[in-house]
Amino acid sequence: MSPSVSELNRYLRQIRELYGDALILERTGEKRVNHHGSATGDLFEGDGEHSWEQAESLDELYERIRTCRKCPLCETRTNFVFGTGSPHAGVVLIGEAPGAEEDLQGEPFVGRAGQLLNKILGAIGFRRDEVYICNILKCRPPNNRDPLPSEVEKCEPYLHRQLDLIRPRIILALGRIAAQTLLRTTDSLTVLRAGRHSYRGIPLVVTYHPAALLRNPGWKRPTWEDVQRFRSLYDGLCAGDTV
Ligand code: SF4
Repeated sequence: MSPSVSELNRYLRQIRELYGDALILERTGEKRVNHHGSATGDLFEGDGEHSWEQAESLDELYERIRTCRKCPLCETRTNFVFGTGSPHAGVVLIGEAPGAEEDLQGEPFVGRAGQLLNKILGAIGFRRDEVYICNILKCRPPNNRDPLPSEVEKCEPYLHRQLDLIRPRIILALGRIAAQTLLRTTDSLTVLRAGRHSYRGIPLVVTYHPAALLRNPGWKRPTWEDVQRFRSLYDGLCAGDTV
C-alpha cells in the first residue's frame, strides 16, 4: 500500500532531523535542493493544490488549495480559512491572518471583532454577504503573531487569484499589518489611512482592524470617517461606469 501524504511528510521531517537542512530530492530526473531551515512547498505540498492558478471559480480555488501545506502554518492550524462572501462582490475586505476564533470556525472575521465589522459595514450600507472578506494568510500564525515574510510569500498568490476571480472595484485593508504587507511599506497606519492606494490595480483604502477598535473604542470615530470616505470612493467608481 502506498504511504499517505502525512506519512511521507513525517518521514521527510525525520530525514531532515537526521541529516540537516540540505535535502536533495530526486524528482523525474531533476535535482531540487532545499537550502532553507524551514520546510518548503516542495516538502509540504498536499493533495489537491496543484494547478490552482487555473481555478476558474472561488469554489474551485478553495477545493484546490484547502489542503495547502506550503508553509509551516499548516502544522498548527485547526482550519484553513479561505474567505467568505459574494464571489462577485464590488468590495473586498482584507485582514492580515485568521485569529483564534477564525481558526476554530474556518471563517474570517467572526466573534466580537466580526460582529463589529458587520456593524461597520451596515453603517455604510453593505451587508456582510454582499461583500467579500478574507485575509492575506489562510492559516493562523501561532499566538496571533505577525505573519512572517516567508509565509506571505507563499500565501499571497492565493489572494491574487481570489482577486482575479472576484474583480472587485475597491479594497478595504483592515489594520496596520494588512496594509503594510499589501502595500510593501513601513509607513504608519496614520499615514496609510490618509492616502488612497492601489493593490494590483485596484483602489485600496486603509482603516483600523475591528479587533483594535474593541481595545481602543476611541478609534471608532476615525474609522467611521475612513469608511465614509471608502463608501464615497466606491460610489464614485460605480458612477464612473454609467457616464
Ligand atoms: S498559510 Fe497559506 S501557504 Fe501557509 S499553509 Fe496556510 S494556505 Fe498554505
